[in-house]
Amino acid sequence: MTAATHDLVVRGALIVDGNGGPAFEGDVAVDGDHIALVGTVTGKGREELDGRGLALAPGFIDPHTHLDANLFWDPDVTPCSSYGVTTVVTGNCGYTLAPLPDAAARDYVIDALSFVEQIPRAAIEESVTFVAGTQADYFTALDRLAVLCNFATFVGHVPVRTAVLGPDAVHERPATAEETARIADLVADGLKLGAIGFSTDQVVGNYGPRGGALPGQVCDDDELLAVAQVLGTNPGPGLFTMAPRALLQTRAEREADLEWHLRLAAASHKPVVVGPVFDRWSEPGVGYDLVALTAERSRADAPVVPQISTRAFELWTRLDMPGLVVRALPTLNAALIAGGADEIRRLATDESARQALRDEGDRVAPTLIWSGRWEHVAMRWSPTRPELYGRNVRDIATELQIHPTDVLLDVAIADNFETQFAPSMANDDDDRLADMVAHPAAMIGASDAGAHVLSNTDSCYAVWTLQHWVRERRTLTLERAVRKLTADQADLLGFADRGRLAPGLAADLVLFDPDRVATTGVRFVADQPAGGRRLVTDATGIAASVVNGTVVTRDGSPVGAHPGRFLRPVVSAGVA
Ligand SMILES: [Zn+2]
Repeated sequence: MTAATHDLVVRGALIVDGNGGPAFEGDVAVDGDHIALVGTVTGKGREELDGRGLALAPGFIDPHTHLDANLFWDPDVTPCSSYGVTTVVTGNCGYTLAPLPDAAARDYVIDALSFVEQIPRAAIEESVTFVAGTQADYFTALDRLAVLCNFATFVGHVPVRTAVLGPDAVHERPATAEETARIADLVADGLKLGAIGFSTDQVVGNYGPRGGALPGQVCDDDELLAVAQVLGTNPGPGLFTMAPRALLQTRAEREADLEWHLRLAAASHKPVVVGPVFDRWSEPGVGYDLVALTAERSRADAPVVPQISTRAFELWTRLDMPGLVVRALPTLNAALIAGGADEIRRLATDESARQALRDEGDRVAPTLIWSGRWEHVAMRWSPTRPELYGRNVRDIATELQIHPTDVLLDVAIADNFETQFAPSMANDDDDRLADMVAHPAAMIGASDAGAHVLSNTDSCYAVWTLQHWVRERRTLTLERAVRKLTADQADLLGFADRGRLAPGLAADLVLFDPDRVATTGVRFVADQPAGGRRLVTDATGIAASVVNGTVVTRDGSPVGAHPGRFLRPVVSAGVA
């Protein structure tokens, strides 16, 4: 009988090590929480995973999530864990949960996260056990969490600004010089405690909670430049990440916004991550051009990094909720405001109202983010007509020989308003998106996992990237895709001890079938605290994943192990 010489061995896999070089057949041995050997492993493992026919890569790092509250109620970090994600970054776009000096500040901070990211307030309130305190207190609470995967956080603009200006002024006015200094101090505190950087949301055209502006809209440049200088004096990594001002504006405004990002990078001497960078129907090619321009203008030592999604961007919307589709049809919008679903049901029985809607539907004014055309509105969910999934409203109307607005009404009412429509908002052309995905400077991210819980499915982006951009379109080699999902992320975020398969590095691994990995469908689950529903995408082909040396999923399902850690930046990888 031979005694095991390693805790875990993955044997005979196609090793895609994250560096981007050619994959090779081999084994990986794990001792404790780190990788011991990559290549040929002669010793036995206490536990062994059969890698034959599968690819073994570093676990995927999701750099853009809003799972801050989920970490408190969903220790298995679903659905991200089922996609082979082993590290999630929270606190994006300025929305985090600390510091919280008092109940009024907490109220505003939760309002902001809930409202902007479309997460039910009750789900946050009922789950997050941190209710007041400093960032140090919050980080202590995070250290105590027992969750499946690793996680890290940014310092969020919203809570630090709320702590200094108070919940009324935070979304109303610029900070004074003295307040700016206090905001900068709080950011410095967060970085010292181990936050990976600072985040904010400056998107013009987005609304904040309580009918107000976003804190990132009302602050002046000096406030964020002061934060950038703090990042610059921080000895570790530390990046500035933002949803940019011009996200919903024209090409010219988006190009001009780059000057601001370059200033922030120059002030911080650290990367400034800007995203999502979208392509749009209204300005074809603008996504690629912005990525290319950003790469061209960036300094190597302090780059502006364009973060892109690898998926067509859409937000699902119902007919009894305010959304792009409803707002485009004044008669429908008025009915919704006047009396909700009942009033829409009544409207549907009124032939003159139906005719008014048809007329409005024929002349919807296009916007930058939606063409206003019914062929660009997909059916995404219909309990009574599941066969309509993926078809567009124009097509269905033509087939039924009725007007597109009658399709909206008839299907939604038959479905008791459960129907989900999806106007195509960005990245809708697959060829143009391919150009962006292939650009070496484009950082894959923008999953928004945990946010927009009833309307967005992009948390599956890693699986989609392997399925679509590697296997179906061959836009990326497997090696390049894995590098973009792992080592490039680790380098940017400051995790020198993760993101690659090499001896001494953390044993975060994903074992998957490159020929089979795919998304398989979407569904609503009612598992949120306080009973709320959320939309999840199912996936197949993820055979197993490992976090800090422990197997955490098999066949895409959590096995009940929770070895994840609250990660601080690591400047250089120690070799064990
Ligand atoms: Zn976000």
